[in-house]
Amino acid sequence: MDLEKIMADLEKKNPGQPEFLQAVKEVLETIEDVIKENPKYEANNIIERIIEPDRVISFKVEWLDDKGKVNVNRAYRVQFNNAIGPYKGGMRFHPSVTLGSLKFLGFEQTFKNALTTLPMGGAKGGSDFNPKGKSNAEIMRFCHALMTELYKYVGPDTDIPAGDIGVGGREIGYMYGMYKKLTNTHNGVFTGKGRNWGGSLIRPEATGFGNVYFAEEMLKTRGESIKGKIVAVSGFGNVSWGSIIKANQLGAKVVTISGPDGYVYDPDGISGEKIDYLLDLRASNQDIVKPYTYEFPNAQFFEGKRPWEVKCDVALPCAIQNELNAEDAQNLVNNGVMCVSEGANMPCTPEAMEIFLKAKILYAPGKASNAGGVATSGLEQTQNAMKLNWTAEEVEEKLRQIMINIHEACVKYGKEEDGYVNYVKGANVAGFIKVADAMIDQGVI
Ligand code: NDP
Repeated sequence: MDLEKIMADLEKKNPGQPEFLQAVKEVLETIEDVIKENPKYEANNIIERIIEPDRVISFKVEWLDDKGKVNVNRAYRVQFNNAIGPYKGGMRFHPSVTLGSLKFLGFEQTFKNALTTLPMGGAKGGSDFNPKGKSNAEIMRFCHALMTELYKYVGPDTDIPAGDIGVGGREIGYMYGMYKKLTNTHNGVFTGKGRNWGGSLIRPEATGFGNVYFAEEMLKTRGESIKGKIVAVSGFGNVSWGSIIKANQLGAKVVTISGPDGYVYDPDGISGEKIDYLLDLRASNQDIVKPYTYEFPNAQFFEGKRPWEVKCDVALPCAIQNELNAEDAQNLVNNGVMCVSEGANMPCTPEAMEIFLKAKILYAPGKASNAGGVATSGLEQTQNAMKLNWTAEEVEEKLRQIMINIHEACVKYGKEEDGYVNYVKGANVAGFIKVADAMIDQGVI
């Protein structure tokens, strides 16, 4: 495999999409040996086929704001690869959304979904719509308008969207409501639905819970546990919330959260009523984390800074891509971090990743450690198909077992000669083999 040529061709074909190129490069670098040892992948031209999305849908969304003004946003659905199951992946509403960022996320999702062991292909979608400061009625009109186009391309055996940044239970409800009306079906095409209309218990918490379960599995390989550890978390959204709850339940102390405005350090730990307060802060629909320090004055706010300068044993980046750079990684390593487990998708830059791998700390890429969210979405689909609901305990036990299985797959394919587990390599190789073999089985289509 000529990696340089592949990347040069990809760049030429996909100008202005740096995150997509970054994600592809990271995967290809780690599967070079597998390609060399298995000529069938080159013979079937798998690399060129696996880095090209099956389909990209781009469309206009027109909606009326509360003042009666007509607004226009752009929305996409990137159906990346359905070799192992129907397309599946979240919808993101954020001003930073571009075709390139969704292609990176759809590509990652393909391998992540393969790792869950469930039959799900990879997709991602979203819009540059900014939900911040919008009224409930505006959110509803936007979601409805978006769905009048998207409904044509999704379905329970075709493509099953879910939430992501800026898309939670409320937005899923509005999108699903319009889908239901337009298709006259109630077939559970979205996951992350409300609990009384087909949603699974534990789905809101699942990504964060799974992330902490994964960190716990990594720590076990060194005879450690998260109990008693100091944990730094970034973001204060859905994934951060779930991670903080589970870290507390397992006896850790979480000392940071962050937003685009800076980070909060709470030496007393973020637990109990403070976690409930996080939900209020999110619900207030503002983009700042600082008010936490008005409510809990022992906490300090560091404007314009990221939490990675704080001394911690475990770091859980749970906000957004490329939020942890080389300087942050070096700070964490210098301060003795043992484990970094990504709740967000690609939050660490390639340079940061390099530093973690060189320092041989426990480092998990999001496609392994945050796969609990989509795995529980898969469990939601199963419950919908069976027309029954599992208890929270049943869902959580299945989620925990899936995270253990993903960890085992990473160890199987990522263990190096000196015993160090390169989870990046392990996750990429395990996911790649599954998708690539399915593509070969199905022929050139
Ligand atoms: P949310 O919208 O619920 O939360 C995102 C959080 O990150 C918010 O607190 C947001 O603040 C904050 N944030 C955004 N930009 C920055 C920044 N530059 N610096 C610091 N904080 C920032 O999204 P989710 O929790 O759902 O998603 C977070 C990450 O996890 C994403 O990478 C997503 O793709 C990934 N993920 C999510 C899954 C899920 O189940 N939801 C599943 C798997 C992965 P603000 O709102 O003020 O911008």
